[in-house]
Amino acid sequence: MVKTRRRPYSEQRPTDLGGGVWSVPVPIPGNPLGYTLVYLIESPAGPVLVDAGWNHPDAWLALRDGMGAAGVDVREVRGVVVTHFHPDHAGLAGQVREESGAWIAMHEADAALVRLMHEFEDGAHRDFQADMLKRAGADAVEVEEAAAHRPRPPAVPDLTLRDGDLVDLPGRRLRVVWTPGHTPGHVCLHLADADRLFTGDHVLPGITPHVGVYPYDRADVDPLGDFLASLRKVAGLGGLEALPAHEWAFPDAGARAMEILAHHEEKLQALAVLLEGAGGPLTIWETAGRMTWNRPWEELPAMLRGMAAGEAAAHLRALEVRGVIRRTPGAEPVTFALHS
Ligand SMILES: [Zn+2]
Repeated sequence: MVKTRRRPYSEQRPTDLGGGVWSVPVPIPGNPLGYTLVYLIESPAGPVLVDAGWNHPDAWLALRDGMGAAGVDVREVRGVVVTHFHPDHAGLAGQVREESGAWIAMHEADAALVRLMHEFEDGAHRDFQADMLKRAGADAVEVEEAAAHRPRPPAVPDLTLRDGDLVDLPGRRLRVVWTPGHTPGHVCLHLADADRLFTGDHVLPGITPHVGVYPYDRADVDPLGDFLASLRKVAGLGGLEALPAHEWAFPDAGARAMEILAHHEEKLQALAVLLEGAGGPLTIWETAGRMTWNRPWEELPAMLRGMAAGEAAAHLRALEVRGVIRRTPGAEPVTFALHS
């Protein structure tokens, strides 16, 4: 598959995709991803947005002006469906609601996380982060650096969604396809009256979304296993036109989902080989340090290192669930070795 090269935000324009759907690029200041594609779906009862973009004054202007290009005033917006709670998707939903009285809808699993974030106080958040890093084998300096980050939680939604629900969009059929993995409540949205799938971050044309386990040593979840199952679910929908939240729209969501599936299966195999050759059990941190990232481990800043460790943890956990590796009983920090 030939990949179109990603173009910078400055070259993005609000675009009429036909069939009453517009894409509105909204910048993510200071982030190499560049922009979120917010989608506007027209309906006789007013437009609904899929995602809203990053909470920043420049992003707000881009969203407002982009909707203006589609002939829509922000005050007319009926609702915002958020594909997942991350700030580049949910960030501006609260401001859209303030201006328009729109509802905000999100899958119930992500809605529960958002409520939890609002309850968490700064001190408790710091302790939680520090404890999680220590148990994964991070050193004191890394714990100190990473625990200092505290993102602002997104707006609490008015409506929660479940798999198969129809979004409140009179005259159109927009169905929720629950695709956990990138977050527990990530959803794709199938515009069934037009064979289009809003894929959020689940299926992107040139990159793959972050899938991590938090806290790193959790043994009661399997986000990567969920993600791979969610990719199969999208592949099962057939060749729908994909309208992703980043990069660019592309023709066949299912084909790309299968590619991403193969990528992770390769990564899982490589990790099993790595553990086999390690000569002893590894902590999550040691494992992450030996995996291949887009930059050498030593050069990753604290936040990216924390995400890489989450990704390593997700792959370890998936291999554990499959019975390929096991965690050493009672080890503190937790370690993993190939199942003998
Ligand atoms: Zn995301």
